[in-house]
Amino acid sequence: MRPSTRSFNRHHWTEKINEETSSEAEECKAKEYKLQLKYANIIGWIIVHSIFLYGLYVILTGSVKWQTFLFAWILYWFSGFGGTAGAHRLWTHRAFKATFKLRLLLCYFNCTCYIGSIYDWVRDHRVHHKYTETDADPHNALRGFFFSHIGWLMCKKHPEVIAKGKLIDMSDVEADPIVRIQRKYYYPLVFLCCFAIPTLVPHLFWSETVSNAFLVPGIVRWVIQLHAIFLVNSAAHLYGRHPYDKNINPAENFFVSAVVGGEGFHNYHHVFPWDYRASELGWLFNPTKTFIDAMAAIGWAYDLKTAKPSVIRHRKEKCGDIHEFGPYGYY
Ligand SMILES: [Zn+2]
Ligand SMILES: [Zn+2]
Repeated sequence: MRPSTRSFNRHHWTEKINEETSSEAEECKAKEYKLQLKYANIIGWIIVHSIFLYGLYVILTGSVKWQTFLFAWILYWFSGFGGTAGAHRLWTHRAFKATFKLRLLLCYFNCTCYIGSIYDWVRDHRVHHKYTETDADPHNALRGFFFSHIGWLMCKKHPEVIAKGKLIDMSDVEADPIVRIQRKYYYPLVFLCCFAIPTLVPHLFWSETVSNAFLVPGIVRWVIQLHAIFLVNSAAHLYGRHPYDKNINPAENFFVSAVVGGEGFHNYHHVFPWDYRASELGWLFNPTKTFIDAMAAIGWAYDLKTAKPSVIRHRKEKCGDIHEFGPYGYY
């Protein structure tokens, strides 16, 4: 159970937001909210997970070549940067700037991990940060682990999510031609990058069967990647310490950081969302930071933003629930 002080403060904070946006709330006042399931999405998820389970069965039969596993592993990490470094730290939070070449590369990675178009992802994530754990949060963790993990993708959005999403300034993202083109041709691009290329490369270069190539670097890699990314919205909002702000739910979660490129340092991230490192722990379990540093070294990334150590220290002393590092950070 969460400490009652945090619940109280959250309630107080939620009220504050509601007061500040009362005129907006008037205009988009939600009628009686009723959860409405999206049956097409539910059937889609069942089909995807059934193919995923069949893919695991095929892996257990031992018929998949080692090169295919290696390729799936590389694809997992690099395409993940399309979500973590691209949609998240670059396009949503503007934590660094990127040249056209890097934005193109990140867009390719983003299509390969198929988490929704950059435009939609940025809008939802900006709403998530602005209205965390209120009705306007698309994956409000107060509605439980399942809802914040994947359930929110199986039902219609709460009217507040739609209303607040329309108020988000997206002009910077709309100005990027790469984002506009990706949005326009999203599904053909996803078909090509997430499924066709991962199937063709193993088949053409080391004669893997088409079905094994489709199942392992295609479906199995993609589904594991999705759940890893979903853990940021579920586990990293429910389990872990709060060294930077004990009054919010986002937490420092080592496991989530380990599987999703350093995105589990979520208490830090909600306090300093514009810091390109999304953590103060350097490279530790943060391959996304290492990737951005490598891109900066060749001049493709620049204007990297970081929080000053004195500001972080002051924040911890004032608001944190723990002040000493453990072996992997605050655990
Ligand atoms: Zn969050
Ligand atoms: Zn964020």
